[in-house]
Amino acid sequence: MNYYSLNNKHHQASYQEAVIQGLAPDRGLYFPSQTTPLPQSFFDSIESLSNEEIAFEVIQQFVGTEIPELELKQIIAETLCFDFPCVPVEDNVYSLELYHGPTMAFKDVGARFMSRCLAYFNKDKEQNNTVLVATSGDTGGAVASGFLGVKGVQVVILYPSGKVSDIQERQLTTLGQNITALEVDGVFDDCQDMVKKAFLDDTLVHKNLTSANSINIARWLPQMFYFFFAYKQLKKYNKPLIVSCPSGNFGNICAGILAKKLGLPIAHFVASTNINDTVPQFLQNGKYEPKPSIATISNAMDVGNPSNFVRIQEMYHNDLNEFKKDFSSYTFTDAETKFALQNIHVNTGYIAEPHGAVGYLGLKKELQNQSNSMGVFLETAHPIKFLDIVEPTLNIKLPIPSQIKSVLDKDKVRIKIKSYEDLKNYLIN
Ligand SMILES: *Cc1c(COP(=O)(O)O)cnc(C)c1O
Repeated sequence: MNYYSLNNKHHQASYQEAVIQGLAPDRGLYFPSQTTPLPQSFFDSIESLSNEEIAFEVIQQFVGTEIPELELKQIIAETLCFDFPCVPVEDNVYSLELYHGPTMAFKDVGARFMSRCLAYFNKDKEQNNTVLVATSGDTGGAVASGFLGVKGVQVVILYPSGKVSDIQERQLTTLGQNITALEVDGVFDDCQDMVKKAFLDDTLVHKNLTSANSINIARWLPQMFYFFFAYKQLKKYNKPLIVSCPSGNFGNICAGILAKKLGLPIAHFVASTNINDTVPQFLQNGKYEPKPSIATISNAMDVGNPSNFVRIQEMYHNDLNEFKKDFSSYTFTDAETKFALQNIHVNTGYIAEPHGAVGYLGLKKELQNQSNSMGVFLETAHPIKFLDIVEPTLNIKLPIPSQIKSVLDKDKVRIKIKSYEDLKNYLIN
C-alpha cells in the first residue's frame, strides 16, 4: 500500500516508511493512495466474526504485503486483548466503551498496534527508533504501556509538571525499561514545541525520531476498528446509525469516516467538542480558523487546531456541502458537560466521564433532527481517569480498577528538564 503526503501527492511512501517517519519529509500528513470497499458478504456476516477477524479484514489493505498475514494477525491479537462493549444508556442511545484496555484510555489500541508494527520492521535491524511524544495526560500513558518492552524502540515522553493527574503521572513514570519520562517545567504547549523542534533538528537525524500521536498512520488507522465493533453489536436493531465522537485532534472521527468509505453503514457522524470549537465554527461559516487551545474539564480534547482535519477534508474533496451531508459538529461548555454527567447518572445510573459526556450531548442534539435513528457515543476514557471531576460532580466514590491499582504503589521515576537544550542533551547522551 502506498501513502501520499497531503502537502504534495507526488511524494509517496510505503506503509513501513510512513510509520517510521510519522510525517512526510515535506511535513504533510500521510494519506492512503487507495481505499477498496469491503465486500457486502463481510457486512452480511459481521456478527459471526470475532473482533480479531474483523480487524484483519479492515486493516489488511492498508498494510499490504509489508507485514505477512501471520505476523499481522499476531499483532492484531496482541492489540485487541480486551473488550469493546456497546452499553445501553437510554432508548436508542448506546455508549461504546473504549476504555477496557491496559491504561483505560481508547488510545491503547493505536499505541499497541503501532508499537508492534515498528517492532516488526526493526526485527532484523541494528538501528533503533526513538518515539518522542508530548502528552497532556492520556496519550503518554497509553504510549508508555503500548511500547513497553518492544524491541528496538526507545520511548521518551514529555509531560508538563503539575498539569497531569497523579494517576496519569504514575502511568507515565513507573514502567522503566525502554520508557523514559521527562517532566517539563512548563505547560503542554511547551512540551509540544520541544517535540516539534526535535523533529526539525538536523543534529538529531541519527536518532530516527518518530511520533506516536494520531498523525502517525499506524496509530490512526486501527481506530477504524471501533466503528466496526459498534456496528457489529447494533446491526440487529436495523436502524440508521449515528456515531458521536468526542473530538480533539479528530483522529478518531477521521478513522470513522474512512470506515464508512470501506462500506460500513454509518448514517451520520457527529464531532462533539468542548469550547475549543474550530470545527463547529467551520461548519457554520465555512471558515477554518485555528486558535490557541483553551483549558477545559475534557482536557484530552483541548485542541485549537486539530491535526487530522486535513485528512477529513481530503476525503470530502474540500467540498463543505458534501461534507455536511454526513457530518455535524457541536460545541459544549464545561457547565453543560457537568450537567450532562449528572443527568445521565440520575436518570439511568450510568457513570460517564467528561469526554464521553460531550459525545453524549452531541448525539442527543443530532437525534432531535433524526428521530428514526439510533446512536452511539464513544466513551473514550474510564471515569477513574477523571476522578477529580467525576466524583465531586456526581457525589460518588469510584472503586479503583485493577489496572490503576497496579501503578499506585510504584515509585515515580522521571528526569526534570527546563529547556529544549536539556531535551537535546538527553537524546544525544
Ligand atoms: C485523545 C482523546 C480524545 C480525542 O480524540 P481525537 O482522536 O484526538 O479526536 C477524546 N477523549 C479522550 C479521553 C482522549 O484521550
